[in-house]
Amino acid sequence: MIEKASSFSVPIRINWDLSHFDIDEISNFSTQKKSLLHKIVNELLINRVLLLSISGWEVFSSSAFHDLISLLKKETKISLIHDFNYPIEIKTDFLNKNIETFILQIEDINLLNGSNIANLLKKLKIGVAFQFTVTEKNYRDLPAAFNFCLKNGIKKIILPNANLAGKRASEIQDLILSSSLKKKLAGLIGENNDLLNEQIALDVYDPSLWRLLNTNNKETKMLFQGCQAANSVAFIDSSANVYPCLSLPLKLGNLKQNTLKEIWASKKRLKVKQAIEQIPQECQICSAVKECAGGCRGITYSLKGDFNFAEPSCIATN
Ligand code: SF4
Repeated sequence: MIEKASSFSVPIRINWDLSHFDIDEISNFSTQKKSLLHKIVNELLINRVLLLSISGWEVFSSSAFHDLISLLKKETKISLIHDFNYPIEIKTDFLNKNIETFILQIEDINLLNGSNIANLLKKLKIGVAFQFTVTEKNYRDLPAAFNFCLKNGIKKIILPNANLAGKRASEIQDLILSSSLKKKLAGLIGENNDLLNEQIALDVYDPSLWRLLNTNNKETKMLFQGCQAANSVAFIDSSANVYPCLSLPLKLGNLKQNTLKEIWASKKRLKVKQAIEQIPQECQICSAVKECAGGCRGITYSLKGDFNFAEPSCIATN
């Protein structure tokens, strides 16, 4: 029997992507108090969002981004995700302000060769994590990622969920870990477990990959406690569209037209939440259902167009 998650009237964990934000909005936002950016920040503040992960912020100048971050209150824990593909000038003054964790996100570990990013990260007085987006092409580089973290005192490696919001159906398949890749990854992590030891925590967001790893291993941390999409979690894109999660490409509303509270009270959001709370038919006899609860429901919806299936890349059925 799966315990029902508590119900949230607004999301408390939000991923906010700024990467395609209107350039004019960004350059004028410090002077235009009624801009869309102000509206979104205001929504985050009045709804007391606890955890905010910001990505795509590299499109801002550092002073504009500094102004944006300054609007958020200390009660909001901000994680800043930096995509290594976008060169930026890392300014420790604003990164140390109001930001709890700086997450270096990378797909190609070879890009780190010859880069001075490690030295810059050491100067930060905030937590640093390394987010490795695993694909069929790069998964063998995971031990090199472990070594980079060990060498540079980075204490957390994140294997994140696929970012599917706003993606076309044709793009989605390539972004999802297949069951065979999960098995190869688990083997590789097992072989290199000594690199993790007690110094580095591995945060695995994929429930079946986590299950493949040694669940009693102190160095792994289970973040998945049943899908929280459309409940405590939301994703906001650069056009102010609100989604249940960054892995669930189903638009719930837009902050240009409605408040976050209105979107969260909408029938559409409640319908998605209820559908996610139902354990899929084919999972009901699965021995892992208690920890897995149907896997990533966003992936299932993206590939099947319905929530009532086991995750297509589930390791128990593939
Ligand atoms: S069948 Fe697969 S997706 Fe469903 S609960 Fe079991 S492991 Fe999870």
